[in-house]
Order: sequence, then C-alpha cells, then structure tokens
Amino acid sequence: MPNQVQIEHLTFDVNSSFYNHVLSDFSSKSAIYYYIHDTGGYINTDSRGFEYASYHTWQEEKFIENVFESIDPLISLDFTRTYIESQGDINIYCLGDYYYGYAGLTYSTNDSDIEIFWENQNGYSYVRNYGDLMDLDAFTLIHEIGHALGLSHPNNDPEGSWHTSNDTVMSYNFIYNEYSYYANAPVWSTIDKLALDSIWSGENQGVNEVIPSIDSLTGLTIGNTYKLEEIKDYDGNLHGYLGNAPSDVITGYKFQGYAYSGNSSNMEAIFTNKYSGRWVTVDHFDDDKIDFSYHGQGGATRIVGIYEDPLVKAGIVQKDSVFDGSRTFINDLKLDNLILKASGDFDGDGFQEIYFSKVDNTAYLRAVMHADSNIQYANYQNLEQMTNFLTIHGHADSIALIA
Ligand SMILES: [Zn+2]
Repeated sequence: MPNQVQIEHLTFDVNSSFYNHVLSDFSSKSAIYYYIHDTGGYINTDSRGFEYASYHTWQEEKFIENVFESIDPLISLDFTRTYIESQGDINIYCLGDYYYGYAGLTYSTNDSDIEIFWENQNGYSYVRNYGDLMDLDAFTLIHEIGHALGLSHPNNDPEGSWHTSNDTVMSYNFIYNEYSYYANAPVWSTIDKLALDSIWSGENQGVNEVIPSIDSLTGLTIGNTYKLEEIKDYDGNLHGYLGNAPSDVITGYKFQGYAYSGNSSNMEAIFTNKYSGRWVTVDHFDDDKIDFSYHGQGGATRIVGIYEDPLVKAGIVQKDSVFDGSRTFINDLKLDNLILKASGDFDGDGFQEIYFSKVDNTAYLRAVMHADSNIQYANYQNLEQMTNFLTIHGHADSIALIA
C-alpha cells in the first residue's frame, strides 16, 4: 500500500508556539550540539527538575550518532556531538528501565534547549551490529529525535491504523517480529526526510543571499546554486511548470558539473533542482553563451523529462509505491541527495549513461539517455550491482569515479 503519510501530516507542530522559538534559534546557529548523558546518578534538568539518570551504552550512543549523521547532509542543520552538558542544544537522558509509563518524552525549555528523556523497554529483537540495543528502544530514540527536530505525530493521530513505523518514525505502530533474533536498525523514512527538509530548508539561512542569473557557463562552481531564468522543458514551459514557477525553483539550480548526455561529442552542463524535483542539461557552445531557445527537438538545453519506470509500465510495480524508481529519483532530487559522478556509453548500446551517487553512497543512480539528451529511464544500483555492471562491460576503471 502506498504511504498515506504526507509532509503536512508531520510538520504542523513547527508553527506552534511550543516549537517556534526553537525554529528561529536553531536556524540562526551554524552547529546544533547534541549531548548524550552517559553516567548514572541524579541530574537536575530544566524541564523535569531532579531525575535519576542511567548511563547510555556505547551501542546506544553509536546509534544516536548515526541518527544525527544520517539526516545531517540532507537538511540545513549541522549536528556536532558535545560532551559538555551545558553546551548541548539537544540533551538526551536515559532514565533506566521502563517504569514511569512513558517510553520517551521531548521538551523544549524556555531557552530553546531541548531535553529528551527515554526509558528502556527491552523489546523485541537485537539491532544488527548494535550489540544489545533492541529495536523498540532504537525506535524510541529516533522518534524522540524526530520530535526534537520539529516532527509531529502523523496528523496528531499517532495510533491511527493508516500508518506504521515503515511509513514514518513518528508512528506509534511499531512493526516488529518478536520471534526474530535480529532486526535492522530503524531509519528515517523518505517522508520523514522530506518533512525535515521542508522544515529545515536552506531558505531559513539564506534570506539575504543574492543568487545570480547566468547566461554563460563560465566560472561556475560545482555545488553552488544559480538562477536559470529562461530554462524550459521540451514543450517550452518555463522551468517545466504550466503556470508560473515558484521563485525558489527559478533560483534553485545547483551546478553538478559536466556529463555526456546525448549524441554530441561535447559534454553538457548538469544542474539539479531540489525545489522542483527536476534536473537540467545545458549545451556548451563555443561562444560560451547559453541558448535557452534550444529546448525542443535537436536541442539539449532543457528541463529533462519525467519518464515512467519500465516496471510500472509493465504493471509489475505499483505507480508511486516505494518500488517506483521514477518516484525515488524525484524524491532524491527534492532532498538534494544526488551527486553527479561520471558519464559515458558504458554498456556500448549507443546511448549515454549518467551516473549519480546518493550523498551517503548507499546507492547509485544510472540514468540512460536518448540521443537528444532527454531521459529514457533510470535505475538504482547498489555498490555490488554497479561494480558488476561496469566490470562486465569492461569499465572497471570507472568504478572508483562513481563509488
Ligand atoms: Zn511522540
């Protein structure tokens, strides 16, 4: 069943007075410090006064670190662990075994520091590679960190049967297998990442930044964002919109570098846009001027089209399900989660292929292009699949460029 949870179901708390001062305070900081209390004994906390704290195991600490590290590259906040309690913006305390009748609580105090308290429920399976950390406790931790970063329970209905922990870490409906010895570590779902990105988009920090409009490709810096005022899709729609495109989209083209995208012997410039979830090829002419009228047939200066996943077309995979490669590609563009790596006709079929990697290197996107630089389709590969594919086709030397 497709995920029913929408970004709006997870983000309405952010505008409450409860969270508003955190939003403005965190947005103004270059680093958000998190503190993990790791000794036992009485503590005096801002929100709950005196409590008896238990220590954190090093596996719990490692899991907490990974929860922050796995969201850090995708949102504008940067997280740093601190060992000084008073420096922490988010302080995490374990109160020992489940006793008070709550698994986790998150408070924001008047000075906009956040305190997380949680209790060990010791259920149900051991998390693979995390020693004696159990999956329900790991889920409590990522859920409370979700609250600390502004996420709400889905539509204020944490127990609703329309969602599970597979859809969002903010659900109470934790999916587990009590007969299984090991479980995978809970991770942010795609909708969690999109919701956090919408709360903590770069806009909060870049209000005074002026983004230049460009009509040439000279002097661009990879990773910087530019205004492509006149870029159109194949049919001539500005920015791929039928009506007016939002201003974030117009100024939101991130330069990724150059790639062979079509049958010309020149490379094209590649831009991605996290506001529209689209990407762009821009032809590189000798006079170094961008010709924005070159978007139709025979041109390669355009918003790249949206393709249908061949498996969806064949009826094997449901459209917009998590297995729909086209939807995953658009989500990764919206998360600014792709880095251009390499291009070439690796399988020798006469069509160029462009390789992107996910920011965290967990998967590689192989986009297969048409002769005119539009896209045929794309598929995700893991490291092994990418390595095998390139090795079979005699391009083992390109693996290191991509991985
Ligand atoms: Zn909660």
